[in-house]
Amino acid sequence: EPTSSDKLNVIQTQCPFCSVQCKMQVTITEPAEGSNRLSYTIEGAANAASEGRLCVKGMNAHQHATSTERLLHPLIKRGGKFVEATWEEALRTIRDRFQATSQTYGPDAVGVYGGGSLTNETAYLLGKFARIALGTKYIDYNGRFCMSAAASAGTKVFGVDRGLTCRLADIPLAKCIILAGTNIAECQPTLMPYFTKAKENGATIIVIDPRVTATAAIADIHLQVKPGTDAALANGLLKAIEEEGLLNEKFIGEKTSGFYELKKNISTIDIDQIAELTGISEADIRKAAIAYGKADTGIIFTARGVEQQTDGHMAVRGFLNLVLATGKIGKPGCGYGAVTGQANGQGGREHGQKSDQLPGYRSIENEHDRAYVAKVWGIDPAMLPRKGVSAYEMMELVHQDVIRSLFVMGSNPVVSNPNATLVEEGLAKCEFLVVADMFMSETARMADVILPVTSYIENTGTLTNLEGRVLLRESNVQAPGGTKNDWAILCELAALLGHESYFPFQNAEQIFEELRVASRGGLADYYGITYDRLRREGGVYWPCPSPDKPSSGIMFQNFFPHPDGRAVFTVVESRAPQETPCEQYPLTMTNGRVLSHYLTGVQTRRSKTLAARNMDNFIEIHPKTAKQYWIEEGEWVVVQSRRGSFTVRSRYSDQIREDTVFVPMHWGGAQNVNRATSPELDPNCKMPGFKTSVVSIIPLRLQ
Ligand code: SF4
Repeated sequence: EPTSSDKLNVIQTQCPFCSVQCKMQVTITEPAEGSNRLSYTIEGAANAASEGRLCVKGMNAHQHATSTERLLHPLIKRGGKFVEATWEEALRTIRDRFQATSQTYGPDAVGVYGGGSLTNETAYLLGKFARIALGTKYIDYNGRFCMSAAASAGTKVFGVDRGLTCRLADIPLAKCIILAGTNIAECQPTLMPYFTKAKENGATIIVIDPRVTATAAIADIHLQVKPGTDAALANGLLKAIEEEGLLNEKFIGEKTSGFYELKKNISTIDIDQIAELTGISEADIRKAAIAYGKADTGIIFTARGVEQQTDGHMAVRGFLNLVLATGKIGKPGCGYGAVTGQANGQGGREHGQKSDQLPGYRSIENEHDRAYVAKVWGIDPAMLPRKGVSAYEMMELVHQDVIRSLFVMGSNPVVSNPNATLVEEGLAKCEFLVVADMFMSETARMADVILPVTSYIENTGTLTNLEGRVLLRESNVQAPGGTKNDWAILCELAALLGHESYFPFQNAEQIFEELRVASRGGLADYYGITYDRLRREGGVYWPCPSPDKPSSGIMFQNFFPHPDGRAVFTVVESRAPQETPCEQYPLTMTNGRVLSHYLTGVQTRRSKTLAARNMDNFIEIHPKTAKQYWIEEGEWVVVQSRRGSFTVRSRYSDQIREDTVFVPMHWGGAQNVNRATSPELDPNCKMPGFKTSVVSIIPLRLQ
């Protein structure tokens, strides 16, 4: 324990590595004798979401922020090499090149690509920057790969998309919990005690996952489903609920619409066929359906395993049908949760960095919404560009020379997009690429100008965690070197582009004040939230339309925000993925996270402790399958699909289906799983089918 005289600074902050947003205290102390390195002590801090817990990522989140690899000055590429530049030089270069692109090809030739880890203030400002300072319709962000399926399904079914419709604290009240395609034990570890507590209280835990994950280890029922068949499985569960007489007729009659059409469809569902398709026996489907249907309370969670499919939107709607059919929503211990992955996965999707969206979940195609936001921004609504395209479609437009200059903030699209080879080719020929990042990421390496940004420790702002609770992360730490806050960069660049009056902000709180007003009356209404209130209350749930009223964590207690007040049932047509295993590509590849890494690993690969846990990427494969393809444990293998290939080490596991392999998503270059993933998109929400690419594998030594 450092003495008070050793302490240089004590910082209250939030972990940057997932959507729980655990609060923490970082104590910085003098170097020990004989050393010149400051020492850091990390402790969890009390808060309602994580109750003071931290996982290994949080405990080591200071390491990348203090890494010697931090970019500290703007860089401009000259003659193929990066050279240090002043901010004035870098920003003037960007202004000149963006203006030249816009004058030659029109404003839509400049694109903006954001991220789900940006604060609410930066996400809001990025949308405003794209539409006012650049006048482009092309803005989207990496959350498209994270939340789009659940968000669009939630909006269609409930009328609004808030990740968790209840509070985290309600989880132990649930008597049955379905965790579909979510590995909380590795992705949001500090939430696990809520589930173990529920289990102690007698809850049945059902896990749906092709792998026996650390989360599946606590399951009472594990449905080890074939990848890409979750929508069908949800239909099977619904059919069994109906056959077992477990429908909540009162709730269906009073609170929902569309059940009549769905009922007709249910009669056509054959559980035996679904068992065949999903690989789950009829008995297990029925057992799970009875456990959920009979329980007095229950919560269903979905995450990327269900959502990152080319019918992810429909798969989520299938699970929402179960919630409505049993009336398990709008009361304690009941609800639905889309388990967000990114640090601000919830807030990042609410304030306008999506191609079809304006702040407060307003629609960019709705004339009333356009007029409202235009008034807040002080512009003519006609100045607001229309809807653009989704993140991967933007990359296709870069490849097709439609988007000729690109501004990337807080994202690493070369690694995170499907079909990474096409993305890499596109960015290589992009006429002018700007990247704002803390590190020389795989995308930054390809840039013409790199702008160094502050880390979470140095940047004040709000983030909205997975339960829809807005949290204030304050900082009194000096930005290192020449780094700047991302929102400040946007203000300076906007001023250089001649739009200073729209971007007069001196601090994050001033941006939040405008965001509050811009979101007022929208579905994600932040009007009642202020920095002072966040300081006083520790966090506030949205919707929060009034500064002096409490906000509620439990949604839909009385009505759903559809015009008739009812939630909507949907007939779920499960659609097979375009790709299915064949002679040439016999295995289905799914991807995901490991405990010690975050997103594309730009930050966690620069943390010594976290990187040491997984230095290289790997492919998890069943030993029987491995033997079939002459693959030894731990050897390098080449994984090939119709798009391309990557090279990783094999890792045997008898915890995965024999027809499926799993590869983490945290590495770039030759180890990038996305060199092989399919770019087929869900037609409803444009989510790529990351979880259902088919591949072949051969040992590198046999190539
Ligand atoms: Fe908490 Fe998530 Fe950070 Fe772990 S990674 S400490 S669960 S916010």
